[in-house]
Amino acid sequence: MTIAQLAHIADPMLTPRLVVKVGSALLVGADGAPRRAWLTALVGELAAARARGQQVIVVSSGAIALGARRLGLAKGGRGSLADAQAAAAVGQITLAGLWADLFASHGVTAAQVLLTLDDLEDRRRWLNVTATLGTLLACGAVPVINENDTVATEEIRFGDNDRLAARVGQAAEAHAVLLLSDIDGLYDRDPRDPDAKRIPVVRRVTPDIRAMATGGSSSGLGSGGMTSKLQAAEIAGLAGMALAIIDGRPDQPLAQALADARGTLFLARPHKSARKAWLGGRMRMRGFLHVDAGAAMALGQGASLLAAGVLQVEGQFVRGDAVAVVGPAGEVLARGLSEYDAAECMALAGRNSRDHADILGYAPRSAMIHRDQLVLV
Ligand code: GLU
Repeated sequence: MTIAQLAHIADPMLTPRLVVKVGSALLVGADGAPRRAWLTALVGELAAARARGQQVIVVSSGAIALGARRLGLAKGGRGSLADAQAAAAVGQITLAGLWADLFASHGVTAAQVLLTLDDLEDRRRWLNVTATLGTLLACGAVPVINENDTVATEEIRFGDNDRLAARVGQAAEAHAVLLLSDIDGLYDRDPRDPDAKRIPVVRRVTPDIRAMATGGSSSGLGSGGMTSKLQAAEIAGLAGMALAIIDGRPDQPLAQALADARGTLFLARPHKSARKAWLGGRMRMRGFLHVDAGAAMALGQGASLLAAGVLQVEGQFVRGDAVAVVGPAGEVLARGLSEYDAAECMALAGRNSRDHADILGYAPRSAMIHRDQLVLV
């Protein structure tokens, strides 16, 4: 059985390991102080989930919002990267303390983990994160994770905790990711439109689904918005995890939303190997290989990407870097690890395999991206 309805997210058999992401607007009030009563109730629900036999990982935002007020920074601390980093340094202490105290009142140990994008993009560091989270969970602790905002520079930032939660779920081999939001799911149009309808279940994030999302955070406190939630749903789906968005605002938000199926559930896609799922969820691509219709079709049938079908090469990358494969209509078809660097790819693009040895002056590889190193998206 797989997770097919919202209630399954509370079921320890179907969801033995759950990631719960809590956004800034839920954790921090308009006055810049933590919303302690609400958080106390939520931690009660998470402790109950653990008592039912579910392992829980929390991804918590709120460091920037909490720190901004203490430092007296304008725009909620998001006026500049330096402001956000300073605010996070102050707010993260409070945030971690809050979670630790509230879990301790249920006899549960919280563990702070701060991650940057690179920790999850580099395979070796990824495996390290996986091992650490596994150990913490095995010891009965609840990891409380945030981005390491204070050191992450613009290029190496997630920037939003929605995608961080999906990547963390993948690293922890979780079964589902639950995003607590200030809206009860994805709507088919601007939710302020009286005709807008909530979509209860999404099988796959298609361009039509993406068109329903409006960018930006509605609260102005976080940085997410629906676009980053859909990106998170794609990462989760590819990794074989379900992802749900529910309204986090009520007291004890899990109990009600899950029982009444009030939210949007994105179903998992058929599971790939863990390594391929990691590859598919990688966010930073070093280059792009534009391919013709023949190559696009062959990829769809599970073939490797051959140089003959490559029309154009973009970007600076070395052998082993992650690149995206772009189809004739400009859509990303796949992601994979290139067997060659950018200059070699350019030299080989459009050329038949039998000419490769002459072009390169050394023994060629069997493909530009081998199918074992390639994930269709
Ligand atoms: N890491 C940020 C914080 O703790 C939140 C990112 C987000 O808004 O998703 O404040």
